[in-house]
Amino acid sequence: MLAMDLQAILDDIDAAIRPLLGQEGRAANYIPALARVPVARFGIALRCCDGREAAAGDADTPFSIQSISKLFSLTLAMQLLGETLWQRIGREPSGNPFNSLVQLEHEQGMPRNPLINAGAIAVADRLVSAGRGKQDVLALLASLCGEPLAFDEEVARSEADTGFRNLALANFMKSFGKLDNDVATVLDVYFHQCAIAMSCRQLARAAGYLCRDGAHPLDGSTLVSERQTRRINALMLTCGTYDAAGEFAFRIGLPCKSGVGGGIVAIVPDTLSLCVWSPALDATGNSVLGMRALEMFTARTGLSIF
Ligand code: GLN
Repeated sequence: MLAMDLQAILDDIDAAIRPLLGQEGRAANYIPALARVPVARFGIALRCCDGREAAAGDADTPFSIQSISKLFSLTLAMQLLGETLWQRIGREPSGNPFNSLVQLEHEQGMPRNPLINAGAIAVADRLVSAGRGKQDVLALLASLCGEPLAFDEEVARSEADTGFRNLALANFMKSFGKLDNDVATVLDVYFHQCAIAMSCRQLARAAGYLCRDGAHPLDGSTLVSERQTRRINALMLTCGTYDAAGEFAFRIGLPCKSGVGGGIVAIVPDTLSLCVWSPALDATGNSVLGMRALEMFTARTGLSIF
């Protein structure tokens, strides 16, 4: 592994992806501020456990991390609450779109897992109850990547103005007594965490604790235990890309977490963390070319958890 020229591999992937830009998929159009992002963009970055980094394409362009933030709010909630977190949130893949309402009624307002919208809103509720909020998610991410970060307030506002489904999910859980706090307060945390702007390089660094048994990628301190880290990776593999999780496991074979901003974070345990970004999405809300690039990466390197 360490003998591979990772920079050359990323350069080759960038060269292979670039001619395909703009051909397939579309930017998320249900959040107006995201619909305006130019789709002809592609970035890829990785960071090895030994600190080596490689990047290609638009790896330093910030984008809206959207649902990738769910990994980090979950990490905070696991730190704060330990096992009690699972009294309110399940661990099963949903097999449904990320913003689906149907399962929630069958299961009395208990979200299937923390990586679909309902689950992440429930996690945000737990954070609020523990006296934490959007600034804590932002601070965690800034610490992990070692650089100052900010919310894109335009994206947060755009989502709040049009987040009818998220409002429905939150109210629905509230009606089952599964949210303790005010819906507006909880959604303000959720919309802001989704609206954090980061680049591939920053996200590849920030996700580094997930390939290092829970150790902070820059200072080595323990963020979560080894067991908790394995659990987060397991959730990424089974639930991180929603109703495409089977396809991701089949084609890529790594724990991945996607967002409708077009980013995907992937983890090779004990080896490296990487992030790809390209805004055009498929019908499941996953980046079309991001997925293709990850597939090329695992084919070329032979890295897979299987
Ligand atoms: N903020 C988005 C939403 O709530 C996040 C969804 C996603 O990235 N899959 O719809």
